[in-house]
Amino acid sequence: MTVSLLGAADPAPVILFPEGRPSPFVLVSDHAGRAVPTIFGDMGVPDHDWERHIAYDIGILGVGRFLRDSLGCALVEQAYSRLVIDCNRAPGHPTSIPHVSDYTPVPVNRAAEESCRLRRELEILHPYHDAISGILKERATRPTLLVSLHSFTPEMDGKKRPWHVGILHHKDTKTARIMLDLLNQEGDLCVGDNEPYVLTATSDYTVPRHAEGNALPYLELEIRQDLIARQDGQKAWAERLARLLPQVWERIES
Ligand SMILES: [Zn+2]
Repeated sequence: MTVSLLGAADPAPVILFPEGRPSPFVLVSDHAGRAVPTIFGDMGVPDHDWERHIAYDIGILGVGRFLRDSLGCALVEQAYSRLVIDCNRAPGHPTSIPHVSDYTPVPVNRAAEESCRLRRELEILHPYHDAISGILKERATRPTLLVSLHSFTPEMDGKKRPWHVGILHHKDTKTARIMLDLLNQEGDLCVGDNEPYVLTATSDYTVPRHAEGNALPYLELEIRQDLIARQDGQKAWAERLARLLPQVWERIES
């Protein structure tokens, strides 16, 4: 008998906000949540580390939900922590189930057996990506821009990161250029072009699979976490994006 990972008290992995009114945008939030299956306890990770960027993308849940409210578009969120399984990594990727994250060991992952890895994929990773695939399939005949939402820690390896926001891109440089121009025109932002990370076919999973895999335009956004740690910052960023995304769409269409 196979024992399931998620019990009756555990939340569903996918939180889906359906489209409220016709919109070209589909929002996805791989690192929104930090739920942990009850069976894992605290995974051997101290309480204070659960407040850090290693557990989830700080502030992005609020940005995504405020943005969804403004645009009326669909939003798909992952409820579980990236320390359980990183939904922006392909199954089996070396950092999919990290043994260490930003110098913090994750003992439950170090001890994880193959069968446990497969349960996490089956019960957490696949349902999330199946939900995104389902939405994209349903709207296959309608023009779509996939917007992948992330946030990044202001400091890594002792180095401060100057960017307020970054646009990550690989094959779709056209949409990225449009958004980079609009963000630079805002006048009050330090904008990263493939910073703080470079998007590649293997470093990321959600955009390569769902957008590049379906030849859809996309934006992968990274917002610095100190700007959106509180609700006022989350609202301000959602308002900014709700103003800029329709302009991106207009320029793509023209
Ligand atoms: Zn992220």
